[in-house]
Amino acid sequence: MSIQYKPFAPLVQRIKQDGKCLEGGILKVDSFINHQIDPTLLQSMSIEFVRRFANKEINKILTIEASGIAPAVMVGFLLNVPVVFAKKKKPSTMDNMLVTEVFSFTKNKSYTVCVSKDYLHEGDKVLFIDDFLANGNAAKGIIELVEKANATLSGMGFLVEKSFQHGGDYLREKGYQVESLAIIDSLDNCKITFKE
Ligand code: 5GP
Repeated sequence: MSIQYKPFAPLVQRIKQDGKCLEGGILKVDSFINHQIDPTLLQSMSIEFVRRFANKEINKILTIEASGIAPAVMVGFLLNVPVVFAKKKKPSTMDNMLVTEVFSFTKNKSYTVCVSKDYLHEGDKVLFIDDFLANGNAAKGIIELVEKANATLSGMGFLVEKSFQHGGDYLREKGYQVESLAIIDSLDNCKITFKE
């Protein structure tokens, strides 16, 4: 499907400079996003998200631990709204928790994702922020948690989308506003090809 896509040049440049391609369609961005973090780039990407979702009502940022937390906190700081991260560990008591299962293709296994009903509830207008959008499984889990809470998803923002895994197609067809700052069309032969 054709989408409205505006690459965020500072991120695209940085991926070109420091991104590493691994076997199996994985992009490694450990030197500026996933292990060491470049706070200046993080700030500029977060400002860009705020700009792109300026038309939306948002009272909460939601992400999944651990790699989504840094961008989510920065966006929450800029919007002055709380940031909730869904936890990947099964709670010892299921009381008061919203729970779903997410399949991770990078780890090739399913894991439980949960969030307390105290921090996600009816009437919340939620912006989901994450580092990567691939097959969209994490995003689908978030949609389920938001629906279980009777909250509303105002939009979904990703630093990097890998279009060849089609999670973005699914989410856009469902009608969600999906904003990805860099879209990668292919990692074939370990060559990073960006969407134009
Ligand atoms: P999805 O659920 O959309 O299939 O995958 C999204 C999740 O998997 C992200 O939260 C991210 O942590 C991880 N992920 C997917 N693809 C990549 C990748 O190419 N590089 C890195 N570093 N993480 C990825």
